[in-house]
Amino acid sequence: MKMKKITSMMLVFLMAASLYMGPTDVYGQETVSVADVQTQTEAEVVQPETPAEPDTPAVPEEPPVTEEPEKPALKAPVAKTTLRLEDAKPKLTWNKVKGASKYQVYVAEQKKGPYYRKWTTVKTNYSHTKARAGQKYYYKVKAVSGKETVNDSPMSKIVIRTCGQPYIVSITDTKYTYNDFKTDMDRLVKKYPDLLKKRYLGKTVDDRGLYSMTFGNPKAKKQIFVTAGFHAREYINCQVTMRMIEYYCRNYQTETYNGVSYEKLFNQVSFCILPMVNPDGIAISTYGPSAIKDKKLRAKVKKIDRNGSYTNWKANARGVDLNGNYINYAGPPDKTTFASEGYPGPKSYSEKETKAVRKAMAGCSNIKAVINYHSMGNCIYWGYHSKKYKAKAWAFAKLFRDMTGYYTIDESYSPMARGDFEHYIMHEYRIPYVCIENGKSRTPVKHSEFKSIYNKNKLGFAKAAYHYYK
Ligand SMILES: [Zn+2]
Repeated sequence: MKMKKITSMMLVFLMAASLYMGPTDVYGQETVSVADVQTQTEAEVVQPETPAEPDTPAVPEEPPVTEEPEKPALKAPVAKTTLRLEDAKPKLTWNKVKGASKYQVYVAEQKKGPYYRKWTTVKTNYSHTKARAGQKYYYKVKAVSGKETVNDSPMSKIVIRTCGQPYIVSITDTKYTYNDFKTDMDRLVKKYPDLLKKRYLGKTVDDRGLYSMTFGNPKAKKQIFVTAGFHAREYINCQVTMRMIEYYCRNYQTETYNGVSYEKLFNQVSFCILPMVNPDGIAISTYGPSAIKDKKLRAKVKKIDRNGSYTNWKANARGVDLNGNYINYAGPPDKTTFASEGYPGPKSYSEKETKAVRKAMAGCSNIKAVINYHSMGNCIYWGYHSKKYKAKAWAFAKLFRDMTGYYTIDESYSPMARGDFEHYIMHEYRIPYVCIENGKSRTPVKHSEFKSIYNKNKLGFAKAAYHYYK
């Protein structure tokens, strides 16, 4: 059965090799063992119809006396393809072949070829950066021996990948600002008008818009409420959240979770998301006080008591730690006056940003749970107001613990965090929530952690929706 998987190209190659080298059965044997090692591939494999029996070359009755001894060949690489997270271009990876000095990648736009040698590399991967969106590509990889006494490998099995459409939300942008967010949001809403709605909630003191986005059925009877970027220097989470929104829009029609289509999931459970709660603070953390447009405000920012450099800025542009602006539930604050972090403000909801969050929440009819993205620590805070719903609260937190591999911290009785948004949820809404602290490097989290953070969190919306589905 496995012999049938030999491609016509491979057969031509084998025949040529056999003419040069010696009896065909030796190479046939080799091919079987190559096929045997190809069980781990996840990529599609083309199985062309068995080619017609080729004309058997005439075998000389007596082999020439000068015939060289047969040379062993390298094993064929086992190739896989994926689409790159940054640009949806096909990427090939393959195993290291023992004895190989380099590898050659062949590409065709049709199954039958022609296959062009596209790349020679000592590495075991190849990114097809010039691939065209929507085009299906066929790839084969060969291990090159570089030794006189050993032949190159046969071709790998063909792997196929269609180049994806470019993404809107960049993951290579290392400083995700309000302008990036606003541009991405507008483009996403325009591209997916049936799936995404934006809502204007007001503006900041430095004239940046505060928005929520609804993903899924706007009339869904259940909602999950999501926030990112309460704290300025944690802006990587705004980018992660936006990219997640794009992922769900792109895959809305095709993906499933636990056998339920995304379409069904998000038709029943929709998401109200504030991807950037604190755009003014983020302006300061990314580009310093010069990014504050209002001259008077900029002068004020420069005078605010600061912990470390501007990149370390956590508050909004007024010097209020927004996550602490729910001071009904607060113990004594870290700071009693405006500062780059730790000051909860003169009173609850003194800030435009927290008012916007309240407005967005009031616009939801039935919030089942809340997800807050923060940084850092690779941990998840969770809690409950009364033991009545402790089990429910834990079930929700456990979902995210299992997904990310982060450890959990029960903050139900922790006085330290009182006054923050989570305690507000705990006391006013009495529903499950998680505060996911992404990243292991100190804030602002190194951008090199983006892919890892994104991959750990990507399925969060699907899991949360499934948890409350039906
Ligand atoms: Zn935070």
